Amino acid sequence: MDTDVLIVGAGPTGLMLANQLGRRGIRAMIIDRHAGPALETRALGVQARTLEIYSHLGIAGRALELGKRTAGANLWAGGRRSARVPLGDIGHDLSPYPYVLILGQDDTERLLGEALRQWGMAVQWNTELVGLSQGADGVDVTLKQPDGASRSISAAWVAGCDGARSSVRGLCGIEFQGAPYEHVFFVADVQATGPMVPDELNVYLWRDGFHLFFPMSGTDHWRIVGILPPELRGRDDQEFADVVPSIHHEAGTGLSFQGCSWFSTYRIQHRRAERFRDGRCFLLGDAAHIHSPVGAQGMNTGLQDAYNLGWKLALAVSGRAGTALLDSYEDERIPVARQLLATTDRAFALVVSDAWLAGLFRTRILAKIIAVAMSFDGIRKLVFRTISQIGIQYRSSPLSQALPGQPDAAPRAGDRFPWLRLKFSAAGLPEDLFQKLDDTRFNLIVIGQPASPGGLPALEDLLRTLVVPSDPANDRELARAHIPSRSFYLLRPDCHVGLSGIRLEADAVTRYFSERLSFRQ
Ligand SMILES: Cc1cc2nc3c(=O)[nH]c(=O)nc-3n(C[C@H](O)[C@H](O)[C@H](O)COP(=O)(O)OP(=O)(O)OC[C@H]3O[C@@H](n4cnc5c(N)ncnc54)[C@H](O)[C@@H]3O)c2cc1C
Repeated sequence: MDTDVLIVGAGPTGLMLANQLGRRGIRAMIIDRHAGPALETRALGVQARTLEIYSHLGIAGRALELGKRTAGANLWAGGRRSARVPLGDIGHDLSPYPYVLILGQDDTERLLGEALRQWGMAVQWNTELVGLSQGADGVDVTLKQPDGASRSISAAWVAGCDGARSSVRGLCGIEFQGAPYEHVFFVADVQATGPMVPDELNVYLWRDGFHLFFPMSGTDHWRIVGILPPELRGRDDQEFADVVPSIHHEAGTGLSFQGCSWFSTYRIQHRRAERFRDGRCFLLGDAAHIHSPVGAQGMNTGLQDAYNLGWKLALAVSGRAGTALLDSYEDERIPVARQLLATTDRAFALVVSDAWLAGLFRTRILAKIIAVAMSFDGIRKLVFRTISQIGIQYRSSPLSQALPGQPDAAPRAGDRFPWLRLKFSAAGLPEDLFQKLDDTRFNLIVIGQPASPGGLPALEDLLRTLVVPSDPANDRELARAHIPSRSFYLLRPDCHVGLSGIRLEADAVTRYFSERLSFRQ
């Protein structure tokens, strides 16, 4: 076998998977048919859950330095600012990163590519997968090399992170079900001055659609996203100058442009692969699902696909777990993609509908409803949980097991464990729990009782135990998250709850590893 895992595609998804395998010591090879990293800014929104994952990878600090935090969103209609929604710490108490970070995809890919070097890995550029055939023990792959010659290699597993036109998906005969939307979008990175509130998101709602202005790093640097005016559709030679009249018409003439560094149009599709796995091949990221950019979910969902598969693949490759564990990738990620497509479809229909009534709703009513709704703490939290992706859960996964006796409001098996500040010794100060978790292992959080898991010798290097002693400050913090003051939570390496219960029982933990995770003792 030439490699344990062949990762096809060095976009954000492939780079994340390579990092997750590299830091677990797995032999993976990552290839891309392009000559080098993408230079376009493309996806801009980095969500809180992604930043939490970056923090474990050691790149969150650098991402925050390079990016811009959105302090608020301003909604404009008819040339007037009709509402402002504060977003600066919308998710405070829910995540160490309670905002959306604006960071170009070129920077994201650079940071993930640099992180790869720590594990002695590098992307093999100008290398394209052109053929594959699967056997019982591996996959024979044909690669087109930089000199144009073909080369055959064998890989135990193949991860198709090769984008919307995925070759892996095509060669596996997996259908990409869905359709294109009727509208064509444009994106433009510009230098501009005008009525926009600096450093904040500005949303111009108009009868026939919208323009979004995202603040980018630097001064007067904006990303504009909008719908291509109908008279420009069908041409393939559009330039930024062609869309300027429509932006002026809707956003006002006080707007002036000093330059445009990137302009592109694209027809958005909503599609999902009917399966995310075929034997030894997996699909992740845009290869598995594409949808409208509403809510800045696309790239983040691909990164989480990789975070979900990474630890499972590492355990299967190293022989610690049986390959049955890998079935849970599809079980967990297809429902996430299905839900994402449904939500983004609904939101997209609302912002682009050509219907007269929808236009009236968008310009006269929508901004006010959003502003009023977002003044309620419960709604703000719900919106943050959804957009930030911290609310993604795998409750119906076969890997989620709750023992009896837990209150309904407590975190459930399958949930991302909540972010808490806890004291880990009687004399200590409260610490950030997420900083204490090691996401290359399972973390057993034992609350208000002694930790004596025992009976788990073969897991010692893979299981970390954190004891949370009884303490008034801990009790207050636990109560905030509805966690019983005596309980235990076994977190999977991706920090979702695998097993939860009240009284810690070594047997239940041992059984969970062998029965649910297919661990070999
Ligand atoms: C113009 C534009 C604007 C966008 N704006 C946004 C946005 O604002 N917000 C958002 O969330 N998303 C946006 N997106 C989508 C976002 O860029 C994608 O969701 C994201 O790039 C997906 O990452 P990925 O790694 O899954 O796939 P990709 O980034 O597409 O990476 C796939 C990689 O696979 C390589 N590859 C393909 N086939 C092969 C092969 N056979 N062999 C070897 N290598 C191969 C490609 O060269 C590529 O580098 C935008 C996309 C475009 C095109």
